[in-house]
Amino acid sequence: MDYSFHYAMANHYIVGVAGVIVSLLGLVFLYYNSLVRFRGLSKLKRPASMDAPKENYVNRNGNCEAVGTTDIIIVGAGVAGAALAYSLGKDGRRVRVIERDLNAPDRIAGEALIPGGYLKLMELGLEDCLDEIDAVRMPGYILYKDGKEASVIFPLEKFQPHVDGRTFRHGRFVRKLRNKAASLHNVSLEQGTVTSLIEENGTVKGVHYKDKSGQLMTAYASLTFVCDGCFSNLRRSLCNPKVDIPSYFVGLVLTNCKLPNENYAAFVLEEPAPILFYRISSTEIRCMVDIPSQNLPSISDGEMSHYLKTQVAPKVLPELYTAFIAAIEKKGNIRTMPIKIMAAAPHLTPGAFLIGDAFNMRHAITGGGMTVALSDVILLRDLLRPLHDLSDASTICKYLESFYTLRKPMSSTINTLANVLQKVFSATSDPAMNSMQQTCFGYLRLGGVFANGLSAMLSGLCPRPSSLAFHFSAMAIYGVGQLLLPFPTPKRLWNGAKLLWVASSVLFPFIWSEGVRQMFFPLTVPAYYRTPPGKSMRRNSLD
Ligand SMILES: Cc1cc2nc3c(=O)[nH]c(=O)nc-3n(C[C@H](O)[C@H](O)[C@H](O)COP(=O)(O)OP(=O)(O)OC[C@H]3O[C@@H](n4cnc5c(N)ncnc54)[C@H](O)[C@@H]3O)c2cc1C
Repeated sequence: MDYSFHYAMANHYIVGVAGVIVSLLGLVFLYYNSLVRFRGLSKLKRPASMDAPKENYVNRNGNCEAVGTTDIIIVGAGVAGAALAYSLGKDGRRVRVIERDLNAPDRIAGEALIPGGYLKLMELGLEDCLDEIDAVRMPGYILYKDGKEASVIFPLEKFQPHVDGRTFRHGRFVRKLRNKAASLHNVSLEQGTVTSLIEENGTVKGVHYKDKSGQLMTAYASLTFVCDGCFSNLRRSLCNPKVDIPSYFVGLVLTNCKLPNENYAAFVLEEPAPILFYRISSTEIRCMVDIPSQNLPSISDGEMSHYLKTQVAPKVLPELYTAFIAAIEKKGNIRTMPIKIMAAAPHLTPGAFLIGDAFNMRHAITGGGMTVALSDVILLRDLLRPLHDLSDASTICKYLESFYTLRKPMSSTINTLANVLQKVFSATSDPAMNSMQQTCFGYLRLGGVFANGLSAMLSGLCPRPSSLAFHFSAMAIYGVGQLLLPFPTPKRLWNGAKLLWVASSVLFPFIWSEGVRQMFFPLTVPAYYRTPPGKSMRRNSLD
């Protein structure tokens, strides 16, 4: 009897049935999603009615200022703060940015911008910040597992040839963003550490900060944007910060070596930890090892070097092995950074607004943080454009509540994907998690609509929760189908049920923390319909 023939037939049958179910589910989601997108876009395409204020004087002395000389204070000139300063400055706002350290940041974070983020940079007129920083194009990733490969190629056929992922030294990029913001005459950028927000009767009026010389200063503005990053000290009164630290990235710089597939990032999915390699300049490759928080060895007593040499190096791709060992031995070359996850949970506070990592964080494994931050900057810029007057803090606060729903397509898709994939990619000792990892890897290897769809989400080009639901459902069906082959037995059925249970227990808490309603049914959220103050409110029975 030819079992392989029957096996292949059964395989095709299951995949076929699964395909039909998934397509039906997909149609429902896509129909709903197109409705949301249609309404969402028409809402945002308001005419930009704000004229540049005639008087754009900005005090650069850093002394105490009266209300009125600055429209907007921005705390922190990282990716979010600098991009926001530029875009609001471009719209004619008088912006004052207070940044703790104006030197180029030296961090192992924020070195890969996915294509969706590149498109956002273009929309902000900031794409030239990637010029002359020795940035490298990144067309996708190759995943390696058990001697097999699966590729995530960014689907960029419909875009201009320069649209791509980019990798670079974070500090060089941020310095360019800051320079670009400071080039506007109505944007002032000064060094200072903001110590607290000035709050009067529940409204934020400005900030207290220490300037470069340590002197305590005060600055006032109609609106204060807090963009002080993942270690934010100021977020406490503006949101409900439930921060989880599932793992640490251990970063090294490798030199004198090449990635196996040109500029494609290499992602090794092996025990004890996933390892990521990508170029950060024409001569350097960044290696990131994702180590669970509870297992993090110490750098100072040499435990980390030992761990990297004995546990991680044997799993490194052969062409990178020598450079990896050399990088471990180079003094001061091993650095760590906590990976924080924090769902967006704002406390609406008149006069103040949180964005960037201070407001919302996801696992860094898919490199989506800067894309979410840039996407939020564009939304805020567009929401603020019709407003001449920012002085009525309560009304503006109410109006800007729509931001939290409008940002969901991009933020919830990137956040959920990143958080789920990190769990799946890092846990291999549990058999059910291991079969989830196999499922995900196998799904990508199917190619076609499956791999393309997932790649589009990973690249930030398809910010649709409905696509996420579609692909997670398809993956579950594919995974269970694989477990039931060549024919269902009680044990296989049990394993299939376990896979579904584990997949749900990984996925649903993240969807829950994003907010099911905001993520999948934004049209039912009253705040979605907010219109600019002073304009006639669209009738809305939900409000
Ligand atoms: C290890 C790691 C790797 C990552 N890799 C990627 C990646 O490859 N791709 C990607 O897109 N994202 C990545 N991210 C996420 C990305 O770095 C962030 O999403 C992004 O930098 C957020 O920008 P931000 O402006 O909110 O914060 P930041 O870029 O951190 O900027 C905050 C700024 O505020 C300043 N500041 C802080 N406190 C004060 C204060 N009190 N007063 C004045 N100024 C202050 C800081 O000096 C800093 O300049 C990674 C994150 C981590 C942790």
